Amino acid sequence: MDFDTIVIGGGLVGAATAYGLTQQGSDTALLDEGDIAFRASVGNFGLIWVQSKGDGMPDYARWTRRSADLWPGFAARLAALSGFDIGFRQPGGLQLCLDEEKLAERQLFLERMHNQKGAGDYQGRLLDRAETKSLVPAIGPRVVGASFCPHDGHVNPLLLLRALHLASCNSGLTYLPGPPVVSIRPRGEGYLVRRRDGTETSGHRVVLAAGLGNADLAEGLGQRFPVRPQRGQILVTQRTRRFLDLPIATLRQTEEGTVMIGDSKEDAGFDTGTNVHTSRAMAGRAVLAFPHLADVPVVRTWGALRVMSPDGFPIYQTWPDLPGVFALGCHSGVTLAAIHAEVLAPAIAEGFLPDETVVFRAERFNVQNSTAT
Ligand SMILES: Cc1cc2nc3c(=O)[nH]c(=O)nc-3n(C[C@H](O)[C@H](O)[C@H](O)COP(=O)(O)OP(=O)(O)OC[C@H]3O[C@@H](n4cnc5c(N)ncnc54)[C@H](O)[C@@H]3O)c2cc1C
Repeated sequence: MDFDTIVIGGGLVGAATAYGLTQQGSDTALLDEGDIAFRASVGNFGLIWVQSKGDGMPDYARWTRRSADLWPGFAARLAALSGFDIGFRQPGGLQLCLDEEKLAERQLFLERMHNQKGAGDYQGRLLDRAETKSLVPAIGPRVVGASFCPHDGHVNPLLLLRALHLASCNSGLTYLPGPPVVSIRPRGEGYLVRRRDGTETSGHRVVLAAGLGNADLAEGLGQRFPVRPQRGQILVTQRTRRFLDLPIATLRQTEEGTVMIGDSKEDAGFDTGTNVHTSRAMAGRAVLAFPHLADVPVVRTWGALRVMSPDGFPIYQTWPDLPGVFALGCHSGVTLAAIHAEVLAPAIAEGFLPDETVVFRAERFNVQNSTAT
């Protein structure tokens, strides 16, 4: 089978890219491990989050904001092509502060974000307790204020992934779940991609979008794609009365009425387990913010692995010796789904990465390493 493009990895990054490629008329195959895979995309929190993104890298703040701006049109097109609503809402988002020290830190953070040259039109601002309470009346007495950004939103991440797969298949994608890809070899004008069971697929271009699997795939090509797992744990409560219309960085109420709580960051290797210590700490913070949650039972908890680069910002990579090979990875695959589908994928269909992504190349880590020594 000779495809225009082979995308390896059917998580949010690969699926958004494959969707975008099919919208360009590119004959695309998506090679994925299917439901047994390690997937950040099925364990995440569902935020489209702008307010905290890009501290120290204004290009990332701009890239994120652009994606958030694309989201309404992207969600509408996706709904039309997939046939269902993915629960996208963009009412703005809050990060709550539980003491004066945290509020002062947040103020400094917002000032830094505003003062970053080249970060675009950043609109995060600080709210005092009264303003916060007018937006979210259910906050408890410990909440002293919050930061607010009008471009933040949320979505049902499972429906988003499903809609991307469905819309792509409805637009001509060839979806090939199966064993992992083990090698990519140049062949003629393109590449031959081989899976563990020996089956091969050929294509003119190859996109590595295998999340944490990109490190090994790149290594097989003699290249570096430095990503590591960072575990996040999430709690979900029983359905409860509606008290929250806009997402909070660490807590959101879903369309169905459950409350998702999650703000942990742990180095646990590839262990997707959970532990009571972290659950208790997260639940405790949630109850300080919203005391009525003390009476709402937690019904589910899970751990999932973020795809983290050394500085936490995305990596979008090509290599001069491997024309037509692209490698993509990021830890904000929900937020960036719109820009991956509508800006990155069309450029890949043309055979290049957009100029504005040059700053996201992995070579930036070489510079950091050499200045550090
Ligand atoms: C707890 C948690 C909360 C998060 N919250 C948010 C949030 O609120 N907002 C946000 O924007 N982002 C959030 N994220 C991040 C987001 O989920 C990830 O950025 C995104 O899911 C990464 O998608 P991916 O496709 O790169 O990787 P994955 O979802 O991990 O998918 C990788 C895919 O590649 C496939 N694969 C791997 N190796 C191979 C191989 N060799 N051959 C074939 N296929 C292969 C796997 O089968 C898998 O399907 C969160 C992540 C976590 C863990």
